[in-house]
Amino acid sequence: MARCHVCFRHCNIAEGALGFCGARTAENGVTRAYNYGRVTALALDPIEKKPLARFYPGAKILSIGSFGCNLRCPFCQNHEISWSEQAREYARTAETVGPAELTEIAVKAKSRGNIGLAFTYNEPLVGYEYVRDTAKLAKAEGLKTVMVTNGTGELPVLAELSPFIDAMNIDLKGFTDGYYEKVLGGSRKQVTAFIEEAVKHCHVELTTLIVPGENDGEAEMRALSAWVAGLKNPDGEGVPLHISRFFPRFHMTDRPPTDVGLVYRLAEVAREQLEFVYTGNC
Ligand code: SF4
Repeated sequence: MARCHVCFRHCNIAEGALGFCGARTAENGVTRAYNYGRVTALALDPIEKKPLARFYPGAKILSIGSFGCNLRCPFCQNHEISWSEQAREYARTAETVGPAELTEIAVKAKSRGNIGLAFTYNEPLVGYEYVRDTAKLAKAEGLKTVMVTNGTGELPVLAELSPFIDAMNIDLKGFTDGYYEKVLGGSRKQVTAFIEEAVKHCHVELTTLIVPGENDGEAEMRALSAWVAGLKNPDGEGVPLHISRFFPRFHMTDRPPTDVGLVYRLAEVAREQLEFVYTGNC
């Protein structure tokens, strides 16, 4: 057995088995990324799609995903690679693209407007060793590096990554412990600690998906944005907040999409305290 210390779950993993996220295993009593270099998605995306609004706006970035996730959001838009049966299938079939090969692909994509590499689609932290090794090579080639994450990682993992990551979009999915613990299977405390540390090292933007009946109250948005207002990015600017619209998906199809008017109203509430607020999926 080996204890994994990547996220709050601290899984005890039997030799050769997988942890809760389906992405980490134990070998010779040590945990490692079973999904290391295993690619399920690769696309040249507009950087606004990450979403990042104040980091090289208008640029494109080569975006890569693997499989596995340590949360259990019932509405996951990427469930095929995060925590469904299909994700388990990817663990058997996904092709391997090593750090040097991926960096080479990213360099070649410069001619198509690419500025770097974004680790996204599934949760990058559960395979952080690949992110670290690849981002290090990418930065040596002058590429920009981005991580799109749920922020549920232990701080020593962030410390290993932060020298090589230029920007992050981090989910702040809500502002109550109950929502994180009962609906998402997460830890709000770990996410807020992660964000507080990340802003010391790189450009950070945050995303909150508004789910009807769960985190859609004005009081919660006011508390969330008051907390965000206390953060500063390394350039001294406030941290941007993306407020985004839910659509029924996967295991959460019992409610309609978030009312567009509500998303705009909550954005106005956030703007009472924040300079940079963006709406998404509207
Ligand atoms: S990263 Fe995966 S294996 Fe490690 S503690 Fe979290 S869920 Fe468990």
